[in-house]
Amino acid sequence: YTMHILVTGGAGFIGSHFIEHMLSAYPKARITNLDALTYAGFLHTHHTLQKTYGDRYRFMHDRVGNAQTLQHLVPTVDYIVHLAAESNVDLSLESSQVFLHTNILETQLLLEACRQHPGLKRLVLVSTDEVYGNPWQDIPSQENDPLLPCSPYAASKAGQDLLAYSYFVSFGLPVVRSRCVNNYGPRQDPTKLIPRFTLNALKNNPLPLYGSGHNLREWIHAKDHATALAFLMLGPESFNGDVFNVGTGIERSAREVGQAILKHFERPNSDIQTIADRPGHVLRHAVNCEKLKALGWKPEIDWETGFEETLQWYQQHPQWIQAAVQQQYAMIPHYEQYGLSDWR
Ligand code: NAD
Repeated sequence: YTMHILVTGGAGFIGSHFIEHMLSAYPKARITNLDALTYAGFLHTHHTLQKTYGDRYRFMHDRVGNAQTLQHLVPTVDYIVHLAAESNVDLSLESSQVFLHTNILETQLLLEACRQHPGLKRLVLVSTDEVYGNPWQDIPSQENDPLLPCSPYAASKAGQDLLAYSYFVSFGLPVVRSRCVNNYGPRQDPTKLIPRFTLNALKNNPLPLYGSGHNLREWIHAKDHATALAFLMLGPESFNGDVFNVGTGIERSAREVGQAILKHFERPNSDIQTIADRPGHVLRHAVNCEKLKALGWKPEIDWETGFEETLQWYQQHPQWIQAAVQQQYAMIPHYEQYGLSDWR
């Protein structure tokens, strides 16, 4: 094999799609998936990957913050795509310490390990559009807009994002940062909006909507995010130190998403149940993605197709849902609030 890629957080939602994409589209790629298996880590695709790709795929159960593991592992890889993170905004509002620990301190250890490995071709640091907060003057965020994160999660990602940049400036580390919009698709953890709504709809329960539900998000299928990450990983040297928004222009409010799900399941709009709004709830996240598009990347999956396919995937995988919900009941405090007890 000619490229050994370390994917951190590859048992998570986006990581699992990125690994599938790399192994199927790049026969010369070999992947090590380093994942701590938190409440959001699942080994659902693990056995299929092992069967299909043999020794091109390897799983290591460990934290990114294990410096000893990094010391051995990092010198063997050509590329790193860093996805491992605490990624749930609600949980960061309840208790933010683990977010700072994983997203900033453990990332610093990864950056240090990279510094010791001059052969590293590139580290793709997967940041998020949430670092911008509400778009500056309500115009889709551009890469040089101010970072005004609105949740402890977003602030921890902004910290990680800027720390990675400083390692490029100070040490010439070949880091590229991406700031992607909201992802959707199969295998997303049940606490996130689309699975949470879908799982409730599948049990004929009301869909719990924060506040007015007019909060706008821009949506991308995780498979399109995967191609963007590959594009950034393999792009020219001029990408180093730079940051790229990843988006689609597809904006939908939480209420619209809920209504589309109810329509799919032939249920009335009255099945949306408004609950207390989330503190600091961002009214809109949207990015200007022209910089990346001008270089030749574009998303391929339109919303109608991707959304339908996603709902069908959940309908067809009740065992995945049940296992995921059971795992999360055991690991997330106050899990009742997600209204998923019927899946237990
Ligand atoms: P996820 O929560 O589904 O998966 C995170 C994975 O990281 C899990 O498998 C978990 O076990 C693992 N992990 C957590 N802490 C770890 C640690 N300390 N060491 C090793 N592994 C650890 O997240 P996701 O939605 O797939 O997001 C992946 C990345 O993409 C995150 O960095 C997130 O900030 C970023 N991102 C996500 C979105 C989105 O819409 N989901 C959008 C933009 C950026």
